[in-house]
Amino acid sequence: MSSLDAFASDKLAALEKKRLRRTLQDTGRGPAAAATRGAQEMISFCCNDYLGLSQNNAVKQAAAAALAEYGAGAGASRLVTGNHPLYDGLEASLAALKGTEDACVFGSGYLANIGTIPTLVGADDVIFTDSLNHACLHTGAKLSGAPIHLFRHNDMADLSRLITAHRSSATHALILTEGVFSMDGDRAPLAELCDLADAHDAWLMVDDAHGLGVLGNGSGSAAEAGVSARIPLHMGTLSKAVGSYGGFVAASKPVTDLLKTRARSLVYTTGLPPSVIAGATAAIDIIRTDPALCASPLEYARRFTGALGLPVAESPIVPLVLGDTDRALAASEALAAQGFLVTAIRPPTVPDGTARLRFTFSAMHDETMIDRLAAAIRALGLMDARAARTEPHCQRVPITDKSPYDDQAI
Ligand SMILES: *Cc1c(COP(=O)(O)O)cnc(C)c1O
Repeated sequence: MSSLDAFASDKLAALEKKRLRRTLQDTGRGPAAAATRGAQEMISFCCNDYLGLSQNNAVKQAAAAALAEYGAGAGASRLVTGNHPLYDGLEASLAALKGTEDACVFGSGYLANIGTIPTLVGADDVIFTDSLNHACLHTGAKLSGAPIHLFRHNDMADLSRLITAHRSSATHALILTEGVFSMDGDRAPLAELCDLADAHDAWLMVDDAHGLGVLGNGSGSAAEAGVSARIPLHMGTLSKAVGSYGGFVAASKPVTDLLKTRARSLVYTTGLPPSVIAGATAAIDIIRTDPALCASPLEYARRFTGALGLPVAESPIVPLVLGDTDRALAASEALAAQGFLVTAIRPPTVPDGTARLRFTFSAMHDETMIDRLAAAIRALGLMDARAARTEPHCQRVPITDKSPYDDQAI
């Protein structure tokens, strides 16, 4: 065996031993939250397509028309020949939805975060980031070379303490949070974050991957909290509620202009296919005009938390923290056997000891599906299997001041 293959095999064996090896599973997706694995038909409760727009006819037709008219790919970076005129409409529409002067579209949400953060801050600056922030915020922060301080999840006293200690020696300061936390479904205290940012001349960047399309009449977490205008950097993805692919930052014109000339993940990568831009634009039009559609995922999540006596859902994401990885995998398999697709979420996506089932609710579900799911969870005894250490208000995981993504072993 070559040393390369031996290296890869050893790594895989070590992951396997900890039950942390991940493998890709072919999954077909259809309308109404249907998913197929092999011959099995299931209802998916783990998709981020909150409004079903990936399957929406108007969205598909817009994408198909652009594909037929403009071809399959962009051909080059946006800065070369890949800046299709369709980008203008999408960016204007995103800026309108977010209430900002402009927006800058990237190839994905991941690329938006890893490109934006290093464009704005560097070694002379400082970053304060929530300990449960998504992997790509963490990676973007690391790439910037700025000193990074993790504050305890949603803990404003801890953030205040860290800012007080570390802000004055830095030129600029950036605070990173998610609007809705992707693995826990709880919301950030955005008004308090704005207050702290103002008080210390720090820039607040909100990754609202899971708020867009579902909170604040579709505008997202900041609109829901009534603080949109106080947030200078609104990041989002076109890959979840928007049902397409891509990411963006909505901000002032100077900021988006700077991103378009400096963000490496925009400059040195190919533009989005025109069909993807057209599909996303059509989906944003739906989000902007159909508040009832946008409200329904949260209503279903609340029906689910109500049925199980869980804390009231704050978003369409509801975690059931089971603690150890084996338990979460077994629970996922037991639900799959009954036709419910709910993947187990393991470290390092979540902190050690907090493996869980993560349920997401979509406008494509109906009340019967929710009630059947809740009944299955009870019948399987999963309510009693929950981890003892979860805190009552949001089944919260143990507080941590280390990012799980720092563990190179996984
Ligand atoms: C999914 C996600 C991203 C990445 O977005 P993609 O468009 O899928 O690359 C970024 N941040 C958060 C919080 C996410 O959940």
